[in-house]
Amino acid sequence: MTAALTIRDLRVAYGRIEVVHGVSFEAATGRVTCLLGANGAGKTTTIRGLLGLQADRSGVVKVGDTDVSRHEAHKMAGFGIAYVPEGRRVFARLSVRDNLRMGAATRPRSWRSDDELDRVLGTFPELAGRLDAPAGLLSGGQQQMLAIGRALMARPTLLILDEPSMGLSPKLVTRIYQALARLRDEGHTILLVEQNAKLALDLADHAYVLETGRIAESGPAADLSSSTRVRDIYLGTK
Ligand code: ATP
Repeated sequence: MTAALTIRDLRVAYGRIEVVHGVSFEAATGRVTCLLGANGAGKTTTIRGLLGLQADRSGVVKVGDTDVSRHEAHKMAGFGIAYVPEGRRVFARLSVRDNLRMGAATRPRSWRSDDELDRVLGTFPELAGRLDAPAGLLSGGQQQMLAIGRALMARPTLLILDEPSMGLSPKLVTRIYQALARLRDEGHTILLVEQNAKLALDLADHAYVLETGRIAESGPAADLSSSTRVRDIYLGTK
């Protein structure tokens, strides 16, 4: 089957300094793929590069069979990609309901957003009683749920998550990963960026390890758990 996302020789630079040096990977349809790496390895830059959010980039980006390498970032939603950035970035003054509605803005009009809203609230029942609250008043964990829920409102073919565990208590991290496991079991295609290797490898089918802007290792998630590189990231020795 064609991969949901194919990246070939992606290079991304900040000004004259290249920080992603020819990265290639795939996100298989209906699977969870994770991109692991220590702080500063280039995970966020890779994602921003493939989405076209960093202008200084080259390489091939394909969504299914379609080459989107030259498309600007705002077009990516139209190709079925939803992105939950690091740090969540919900619209603090808007209600939870309106944040969710904004996620549905790119969908064809014929889709019923109420059905989608019900599905999101099924995944995150914690949001159901807070629909009229300003998003800024939610806890960090609820904001992460809202950010993921907002992305799901677009019914994406590929969901990209950048460090969904960041800044959350262990209990909430467990809750978020439980929800991601549910999405995986429902057949969603997910590309997950994580520094927390253990969590990500427990969830993912396939993993890539990024080290100073290059893929250093890749393989089935179950195999990578025993890799020295992964252990270094996990133990924070790199
Ligand atoms: P983190 O877990 O901290 O988000 P990361 O793996 O996502 O780390 P990036 O944020 O992609 O790593 O950073 C990769 C490299 O690019 C780092 O050396 C970083 O210092 C550099 N970098 C990131 N943002 C910029 C920027 N706006 N301008 C210049 N260099 C940057």
